[in-house]
Amino acid sequence: MTNKRILITGAAGFLGSHLCDRFIKEGYDVIGMDNLITGDIKNIEHLFKYKEFEFVEHDVSKFIHVQGELDYILNFASPASPIDYLKIPIQTLKVGSLGTHNCLGLAKEKKARILVASTSEVYGDPTVHPQNEEYWGNVNPVGPRGVYDEAKRFQEAITMAYHTYHKVETRIVRIFNTYGPRMRLNDGRVLPAFIGQALRGEDLTVFGDGSQTRSFCYVDDLIEGIYRLLMSDYASPVNIGNPDEITIKQFGEEIIKLTGTKQKMVYKDLPTDDPKQRQPDITLARKLLGWEPKVNRAEGLKITYDYFKSLSPEELTKTAHRFA
Ligand code: UDP
Repeated sequence: MTNKRILITGAAGFLGSHLCDRFIKEGYDVIGMDNLITGDIKNIEHLFKYKEFEFVEHDVSKFIHVQGELDYILNFASPASPIDYLKIPIQTLKVGSLGTHNCLGLAKEKKARILVASTSEVYGDPTVHPQNEEYWGNVNPVGPRGVYDEAKRFQEAITMAYHTYHKVETRIVRIFNTYGPRMRLNDGRVLPAFIGQALRGEDLTVFGDGSQTRSFCYVDDLIEGIYRLLMSDYASPVNIGNPDEITIKQFGEEIIKLTGTKQKMVYKDLPTDDPKQRQPDITLARKLLGWEPKVNRAEGLKITYDYFKSLSPEELTKTAHRFA
């Protein structure tokens, strides 16, 4: 019997690379696709030794050609941190819209099931707390985050349209803040920012007064949730995230304790439209997928800190952003 075949876009990114690992482990033939704008080939280099793994350098905003059959598509190609989509706003809009359209067209052509990576950003700066899938969100379309938030909202709309009108088997995961090994040290996200600063002996930069909240999910838990959703028969959006909510100030304190740094927290301006609170309501995922996170923050942070400690000194000092 031949292996099932899956295309993973954004394969060289943080989540894409962990998904490649998972599907290789499950015995699939995996095609990883990435244009390497924000992804890093280092994240998937260890997979090149498998004959079941193939890498294709391609921008999914342009027509995607894949030879042969496909059973599944995971659409994870997109810049995903505020610093990235502020630097490359047009590409962010294009990959979420045109890129998703191309992936859906490919799914239709190949009769493949497709799962698209949406985000808690579709809820914007939420007025409902915690956020459940029924909530429509509070997004500023013309603010700095609009390019990402609206691209992802369009992505959900076109995915549902392909489901309804073309009968494509679609899945939509709304991903909340996730962390773990292979996050980019210079992607501007709070966890690599804080750990990088601690390792370099710099103060930790808290934006605003640090009272805003986030709920951090360890990457292995997220991947398990995505796997189960892909295998389910549910086409509407599903939140996957860890409901353990914390303020950014408390998070900074945890990083200071974990790393033993002597540095302190310093306060900077809060970026425009930075959501004040965020916590997933995962009632649906629990019921539908029998899924909930298993790794608590203390365990997950320890593994992630060990990963960042293992990076070379030059990687660690490379604070300049690649689009700067
Ligand atoms: N943040 C911070 N210091 C940093 C980077 C981020 O205080 O050096 C804050 C940011 O303003 C936000 C939270 O941490 O309130 C999470 O930011 P991140 O960029 O990781 O994700 P998102 O805002 O998309 O949830």
